[in-house]
Amino acid sequence: MARQAKKVSEIGEVKAAIVRHQWGMSGDEKVTRYVGKFFDRQRIGKKIMARVVGNHGTYTVSLSVKDGRADGACSCYVGRGGCHHCVALAKTFMDNPESFVAVARKRRTNIRTLDDLASYLKGVTLAKLIDQMKERGVTQTAFAESIGMNLRHLAAIKSSEARHRYFNELGATKLAVLWVIENVEVDTASGTRQKKKK
Ligand SMILES: [Zn+2]
Repeated sequence: MARQAKKVSEIGEVKAAIVRHQWGMSGDEKVTRYVGKFFDRQRIGKKIMARVVGNHGTYTVSLSVKDGRADGACSCYVGRGGCHHCVALAKTFMDNPESFVAVARKRRTNIRTLDDLASYLKGVTLAKLIDQMKERGVTQTAFAESIGMNLRHLAAIKSSEARHRYFNELGATKLAVLWVIENVEVDTASGTRQKKKK
């Protein structure tokens, strides 16, 4: 029962954010032609994601809600901040939220198979992992140096993911960050900021 209630509230929160920010309110033809045309519809918590065939290929489009705010991202050239594909995705969700398959977020402690690993990596962004790593006192610069990656390249992998454009090394980079989060002793690691544990 609790799970059912959670599901209802997550859908409700996404809907509320869409309404509040007037996502999906445009009746523009550029938008309406995509409404309902999305496939691979998924919902992970308060993030909805789907794909749609546009003018220059298939785009991955998402809306994620945080603190009541909906943020759009799309792999088309307009990209971040909400293009007409994002608006169409919002409309599609408002019309039929149940058509978005709820995908459970995989917990890190619960990875046993390669399928688990794939779904875990899909459910967490590189930006989020890097934030967790920073919280542990390891800077992005120190991390990039340690694995021999150019800092600018690391930044490009991260910002591209936010636009649903995926570098081949995205998964490997996430794994490297994860390894650092779980294994590096912050207080003694060289090149890392000293941080006292509470
Ligand atoms: Zn777009």
